[in-house]
Amino acid sequence: MLRRRGGTWIGWPGVELKKGERVSTRADAYRIAPVPLGETDIARYYHGFSNRTLWPLFHSLPGHTQFVRKDWNVYADVNERFAGVAMRHARDAKLVWIHDYHLMLTPEFMRRAHPEARLAFFLHIPFPPFDIFRLCPWDKELLRGLIACDLIGFQIENYAHNFMDCAEQILGARVDREAMIIEDGDRVARVGVFPIGIEFDLFQEQAMKARRESQRERVVLGVDRLDYTKGIPERIRAFERLLELHPRHKGNVVLLQLAVPSRSQVTEYRELKSEIDELVGQVNGRFATSTWSPIRYLYRSFPQERLCGLYRDADVALVTPLRDGMNLVAKEYVACQVDDPGVLVLSRMAGAAETMREALQVNPFDLDGTAEAIHRALTMDEEERASRIAAMRRRERRDDVEAWVEHFLAAGNEEAAHLDPISERELQQWLRGYVKSYPLCLFLDYDGTLTPLVSHPSKAKLSKEMREALMGCSRRVDTDVSIVSGRALDDIRKIVGEPNLVYAGNHGLEIEGPEIARFRHQDLVHYEARALELFGALEAIANEGAWTEAKGPTLTFHIREVPEARQARYAQKARALMTEHGYQARDAHAAVEARPPIGWDKGRAVLHILRERYGPNWSERVRVIYVGDDQTDEDAFRFLAGLAMTFRVGSADTPTGALHRLPDVEAVRRLLDWVGMRPLTEATPTQSSL
Ligand code: UDP
Repeated sequence: MLRRRGGTWIGWPGVELKKGERVSTRADAYRIAPVPLGETDIARYYHGFSNRTLWPLFHSLPGHTQFVRKDWNVYADVNERFAGVAMRHARDAKLVWIHDYHLMLTPEFMRRAHPEARLAFFLHIPFPPFDIFRLCPWDKELLRGLIACDLIGFQIENYAHNFMDCAEQILGARVDREAMIIEDGDRVARVGVFPIGIEFDLFQEQAMKARRESQRERVVLGVDRLDYTKGIPERIRAFERLLELHPRHKGNVVLLQLAVPSRSQVTEYRELKSEIDELVGQVNGRFATSTWSPIRYLYRSFPQERLCGLYRDADVALVTPLRDGMNLVAKEYVACQVDDPGVLVLSRMAGAAETMREALQVNPFDLDGTAEAIHRALTMDEEERASRIAAMRRRERRDDVEAWVEHFLAAGNEEAAHLDPISERELQQWLRGYVKSYPLCLFLDYDGTLTPLVSHPSKAKLSKEMREALMGCSRRVDTDVSIVSGRALDDIRKIVGEPNLVYAGNHGLEIEGPEIARFRHQDLVHYEARALELFGALEAIANEGAWTEAKGPTLTFHIREVPEARQARYAQKARALMTEHGYQARDAHAAVEARPPIGWDKGRAVLHILRERYGPNWSERVRVIYVGDDQTDEDAFRFLAGLAMTFRVGSADTPTGALHRLPDVEAVRRLLDWVGMRPLTEATPTQSSL
């Protein structure tokens, strides 16, 4: 593809380089940017997380899967390095096409550094169902990694649907299955199905040219990497079963099994090799005569021309993986049927089975069924063989690898996808089952949640529509509203300006509202003087548009107006001063917050309000919704996990503990409208014990 179109190939050279050693980066029509990997990287990233975790898990074989945190860490690190090299060498690329399960986090690293980049990903292996995928302790991270792309491609529809299910159920992303679009906060990714093809003409040509070898017996051919997903032992057993069920094939038919050595550093692959060696010995020992052995087993790789000759001359191809993303051997066999047409016996569990309907499809776990299919293949008349092969050849010639590239790149270059604003029906689906007919207690952050983020806090005013939506909720007898903000209590009360709400200021250190005793955290007295000192120190460094907001016990150092290149330096200095003065520093949107280290946060404040207002058994009386956009809201998401319906608004750059993401303030307004207009509940929150 790159030879024809130009571009840059970024990849691990596949060998460990000695100190000072370099790989050749010469290529005619394209550039090569190597990503070197050291010994530990190869052990943990490649043999470890890629091949011992993702490979078996994605092939729905959790029994073979190992989850090792150190492997995961190195996987993330190597993915970040790939992103770094890609950013250096392909900064202005129109499209960066990232391939396969080894690089699932790379898009996220690239997206963070380069929000405008056009990123597309193709997964060559299956994507497992939700129930399997969620076994991975890093399920969220892997999904977020991919959703950083504009386009995510899969081999078949089933894998794409599995992915959308996982994004919805694990990340709480919005999914439009018909349009095949996923929205996770402010990120929107298109999902597509692109079954890969082969270089059909090349295989056909090589089959025509390949040397002929005289064969005494009819040949049933198996060609695989030696891998437990390929079902080689099952295939040998099915062949043995054929000889039991149909003894007429004894002496006339052989199973020619090529097994290409693969991943022999991984123990399970070595164990599999011993298992196959033993099994071949057993079956041959049982059935062989002085002139015939049923199984010819070759453990090595073959040059392509030789392989094409074997494909051409085989009467039957036995492609019976237990699970396979696509399986190219099936397609290559078909391309090589240039004279006497053979028969393809194909596992239903291979992606190829989706389109190669004319093959004899089998369940590889069903030994009798597979044996019968082999028998049927060996006894099929020429007319049927020719019809089946012709149909598959036509399709594979048309849908060859070049067509796949074209198709994928065309989708990758389409304009960015978007979803319609969140609908009432979707909100209904998320909330109805949870809210049922309970009274509701709503907790809302202010800046970035009820108002868009602006250059100065004093400019963050509620829009008319948002105010109406908010009042629509708070007017109801079955709904209480609390505003939980990092602003000082007086400030937040004033800027919202509605008397009937509960207000929690300073990240919940101060609380007041109807039916709740005024609360001010008892330890704050120790911080009054220190806050003044810290204010002075911060103001002394506040140049170039930086300024300090004094909020009583807490302070915020704002850097939104500082030239972007110098923001990080200001933030760093502010954090150092805060620590020096015995405060906790925390990054916020274009600001650093200083908070007294007194183990109190928005999460604790929310629980305090719930207990104060509704008693210790509050969870039996009310349902709780919390909406926030900030890192400080993550404390609330963590406290409320399992106890509330939580939403994180805005950028998906950082992970969240919230159940769902909302793209923007407008989506929050729609949520409040839904709450305000839902059917009325009979009880009020304080009376209710439904
Ligand atoms: N192959 C090869 N040398 C061999 C045997 C096979 O290069 O001795 C190739 C084969 O032509 C095919 C690939 O290995 O292109 C196997 O691809 P497939 O999709 O069937 O399985 P994978 O190994 O990718 O899981």
